[in-house]
This record gives sequence, C-alpha cells and structure tokens, in this order.
Amino acid sequence: MGIEKTYIMLKPDCVKRGLMGEVISRIERKGYKIVDAKMMNLDEAILKEHYAHLADKPFFSEIVAFMTSGPVLGMIVEGENAIKGMRIIMGATKFEEATAGTIRGDFAHSTRENLIHGSDSPENAEIEIKRFFS
Ligand code: UDP
Repeated sequence: MGIEKTYIMLKPDCVKRGLMGEVISRIERKGYKIVDAKMMNLDEAILKEHYAHLADKPFFSEIVAFMTSGPVLGMIVEGENAIKGMRIIMGATKFEEATAGTIRGDFAHSTRENLIHGSDSPENAEIEIKRFFS
C-alpha cells in the first residue's frame, strides 16, 4: 500500500479502436501518473511468460493470436494504491461482469478483447515491470 507502481498494458484492440487517449485520460483523471510508456510488438515467448497461468487453457493460442495482432502500449503507472486502484477502474475480466463506468464495462464486448491489462498484486507488478521495461 502507499505509493505503488503497476504495469499497465493497452491491448491491440484498444490501440486499433483508437481508445488509447480515452483510457489514458481515465488513468490521469484518477490521479495516477504515467512514469514510463512504450509501444511494443509482443511475441509468443514473452506471452508464454506473461500469461503462464493460462498456458494450459484451450484458448491460450487465441490469446496469443490476439495479443500479437498489433502493437500494445506498455506503461508504468504510479500512484496511491495504484495496483488495486487500476484493477478497479479496469473492471472485471469477464465482459459480462464488468460494470458500467469501468474501462472494460464501458468498451469491451468480449472477455478476450478487453482493452487493458493491469498487474493484480505487488509481486506481479514488480515482475511485470521488469519483464517489459528492463
Ligand atoms: N482471457 C480469455 N478468456 C478467458 C479468460 C481470460 O480470453 O476465459 C484473456 C483476457 O484477454 C484476459 C487475459 O486472458 O484479460 C488474462 O486473463 P486473466 O484471468 O489473467 O485476467 P486479467 O488479469 O486480464 O483480468
């Protein structure tokens, strides 16, 4: 708790739909700072690491296809309780559970193409920031 850094990634659907500005604006209006950012093209190897907890799911290859379908914007976002706070403004993973007013609730119409990734714990925030920014 306190001032935290979290790893946020705007996914290919967010970039393609021209929603980066909208999402960045919500992050800034929440009071968080973007302290680093870069456009990236991900490959299967880094996605196997990043989504290791999903590697044995039947839909894993579809996640890889989606996440390699175009560039993503990786960001380090900093602020008071930013890890949990970002998860709250992102909304639930399943699109049908993401409430209106959240990023996913307002813009996602599928569980796969759900616009944004955010670290789910301090341990994962540290690992993911290292993974994408070192
Ligand atoms: N995902 C999917 N189908 C599912 C669950 C997850 O396509 O049934 C995708 C979706 O893009 C999700 C990502 O895999 O954001 C990672 O899933 P996780 O359970 O880690 O959720 P998140 O932390 O992204 O909310």
